[in-house]
Amino acid sequence: MRKLFKQYGLLVWLSLILIAGFVSTTVIAYLVSRDTLQQSIAEQALPITGDNIYSEVQKDMLRPVFMSSQMAHDTFVRDWLLAGEQDNQHIIKYLNEIRQRNNALSSFLVSDLSRNYYNAGGAIRTVTDNSSKDQWFFRARQSKSPYETTIDIDTVSRNLTVFINHRIVDYNGKFIGIIGLGLTADTMRNLIDSYQKRFQRSVYFVDQKGNIVLAANADRQGSSIQSIPGLNGIAATILANKKNASLHLEYKTDAAAMLVNSRFIPELGWHLLVEQDLGNSIKPLQDVFLVNLAISGAIMLAVLATLLICVRRYQQRIEKSAATDTLTTLLNRYAFDFIFRQALLDSERSRQPLCVILVDIDFFKKINDKQGHLIGDHVLKEIAMIAKRSLRESDVICRWGGEEFLIMLKNCTLEKATSIAETLRSTIAANDFSRTTSLAKTRLAVTVSMGVAQYKDNDSEDNVFERAEVALLQAKESGRNSVYFTE
Ligand code: GH3
Ligand code: MG
Ligand code: MG
Repeated sequence: MRKLFKQYGLLVWLSLILIAGFVSTTVIAYLVSRDTLQQSIAEQALPITGDNIYSEVQKDMLRPVFMSSQMAHDTFVRDWLLAGEQDNQHIIKYLNEIRQRNNALSSFLVSDLSRNYYNAGGAIRTVTDNSSKDQWFFRARQSKSPYETTIDIDTVSRNLTVFINHRIVDYNGKFIGIIGLGLTADTMRNLIDSYQKRFQRSVYFVDQKGNIVLAANADRQGSSIQSIPGLNGIAATILANKKNASLHLEYKTDAAAMLVNSRFIPELGWHLLVEQDLGNSIKPLQDVFLVNLAISGAIMLAVLATLLICVRRYQQRIEKSAATDTLTTLLNRYAFDFIFRQALLDSERSRQPLCVILVDIDFFKKINDKQGHLIGDHVLKEIAMIAKRSLRESDVICRWGGEEFLIMLKNCTLEKATSIAETLRSTIAANDFSRTTSLAKTRLAVTVSMGVAQYKDNDSEDNVFERAEVALLQAKESGRNSVYFTE
């Protein structure tokens, strides 16, 4: 990893910058659009649903509430009760008339004195304190508000029914009974069903104690908001809101994040709750987020791959130019040093002889001076080529200095190396350097002198070169165009 970082540090940095850039822009874009969506659901969609339902409820409920208030204040009703509930037919006729005119499911009256329950159908029974289905009466009896709205199964029609129970008081304000209407809850139920289906929004009504009185979701009907996980955390806030203004609330469950809009409906004495699962709504955003991430990732990989290829190529070029001599295309001294050290280790390990030949062109200065530098360069190139051609695959040749070359012969004795040097010397001496260039007009002969040495145990790197140099000097002194070796 460290090595990788060293070698491709720039690339690693660039990847990190790209990743950080792509990820942060995608994440920010996602968060911003999620917030915008959340805000528009909380501040627009849910309140509008609430408004629509509220106006429908108002339309359906205002008239019956008004009607039951009229009934409770009707002097006929009060007088009939105060006069001791004489002749049931009178009140039954009255209730029937009211029921028909209001297109209600039922209309009813309960006397506090006799505890008789009269309805439009003519049925008469007695409400009792110990019957659970009559509790509504005793509750309304104690109530401080003039009327209560409850939802129940109508005993006669077996329909889910909204009852408006209005208190009747006598002319001195004393409680004498309850009168009211029963209306079908179907309209409301259809309404909340359609909202649920169309917008995946749950709509439900909660009474002032927190019981869910009407919900499209059957599981919730009858339970209380204080007992629903998540919702219980905001139940108190919901129930405390007695104004007909909507509240934006949120709650979380293990599976979902819900946005809630709550308002109090005074006509019903209920809270209307509209909620939406934010998770469902942001699902498309999440999909877009993932697609964006994938695209960014692909772009990043493409950029990095292109960059990697460029860097590799550039590096190879640099490595090559750092290792080779531009004129002769042989290895330069720097690169040779590295290979030579490696070869020394190999030779020590394998106990195989290693020799070097130092080659120096004779009177090269003169060639330069007489024929010009270009010819000098040409000679250098041609000698490099001849040497390369006459060597084995495992031999290494480098440009050692201006007009000096160094040849390393692996697995080669001093004797063999001297003979190879001798062959090379004679090949060069016999070569007409003017043949391969248009610069030289006449035959151009060049000779070289060589010093050969073998690497010995306990030699330092320089020792072997020094011995080769001594041998080369001997060759120069003996008249050049010759090969000498040092034991
Ligand atoms: P000796 O026989 O004693 O080796 O004599 P020499 O003239 O070959 O030796 P010397 O060291 O005096 O001269 C080497 C010359 O090589 C000097 C320098 O100008 C020339 N030289 C070095 N590098 C290059 C090169 O790349 N191109 C050319 N054209 N000449 C070069
Ligand atoms: Mg020289
Ligand atoms: Mg020379």
